[in-house]
Amino acid sequence: MSQDGTTVRPSSGMAGESHRQTLTRDINEWIAGASESLGLGPALHTFRCECGDSRCGRTIDLTRPEYEAVRAYATRFAIAPDHENPETDSVVADHGRYSVVEKLGGRASSEAHGSYRR
Ligand SMILES: [Zn+2]
Repeated sequence: MSQDGTTVRPSSGMAGESHRQTLTRDINEWIAGASESLGLGPALHTFRCECGDSRCGRTIDLTRPEYEAVRAYATRFAIAPDHENPETDSVVADHGRYSVVEKLGGRASSEAHGSYRR
């Protein structure tokens, strides 16, 4: 039994990008929860763009129902307009203030499912 040098390593790149997106989603979940505990109504809340660019510092404004509509799907993310990555994202809705993308199949999609906690 020899396994020298034949270990298959998972390729990074897209995996890291989707990991970053799920981390951002966790932050936004926290924002949504904090907003709710403050008893704020349907006002706009500022969320972080959930695109895959680690340098992205954009924020997007969504009402709580708008945010919940995105969170209703494990593979969907709210991002700033034109922040989608054509290789991994499919834009499902453009709301002007923000866009909703769905992760295309494969590893990124399964990771999005894996960290989904609802
Ligand atoms: Zn972005």
